[in-house]
Amino acid sequence: MPSIFSKIVSGEIPALKIYEDQASLAFLDISPASRGHTLVISKDEHADVYAMPPETLAAVTRTVQRVARGLRAALQPDGINIIQNNGAAAGQTVFHYHVHIIPRWEGDNAVKLWQPRDADQAELRALAEQIGVAISDLQSVNAQGVPKSASA
Ligand code: AMP
Repeated sequence: MPSIFSKIVSGEIPALKIYEDQASLAFLDISPASRGHTLVISKDEHADVYAMPPETLAAVTRTVQRVARGLRAALQPDGINIIQNNGAAAGQTVFHYHVHIIPRWEGDNAVKLWQPRDADQAELRALAEQIGVAISDLQSVNAQGVPKSASA
C-alpha cells in the first residue's frame, strides 16, 4: 500500500507544495512545529535512510538546502533545524523518507532535540572503535545492505 506521502506525490491527497523536481518534493507539514515547517521527501518511496539509493539521497539533500535558503529568505528565522527520523523509537511515524526543515526563532521552544549527558571517556573510545569497524565491514556490502557475495 502506498504511503501517505506517495499519495501526495500522485495527487491522490492534497498538500501545500512549495518546490518539486524529478526526484524530490517539498510541502508544508500539516502539524507544524513552527511557522514554515516543511517536509522534503523523495518522490520514490523508500522507508528510511538505510533504504535510500545514494543518488536519491543526494537529490533530496540538494532540495533541503534549496528550501532552507528559501525559508530563510521568506521568513527570516533566527535559525533552522534540519531533522530526519528513522524508526519508531526515533520518532518516525511516516515510513517514507523525509526531512523536516523547521525555522526557529529565539525563545520559541519549538524543538527539544536531546538532553546532553556526561560521558565516560573510555566508553566513548570503545564506541568510536566499534562503530569505525562496523563502517569498514559495511564497505564490502552494497547500498541495500546485502553482502556483495550474496547479490552477485
Ligand atoms: P515523522 O514523525 O518524522 O515520521 O514525521 C512525519 C510528519 O509528517 C509529521 O510531522 C506530520 O505532521 C507530517 N504529516 C503527516 N501527514 C501529512 C500530510 N498529509 N501532509 C503534510 N504533513 C503530514
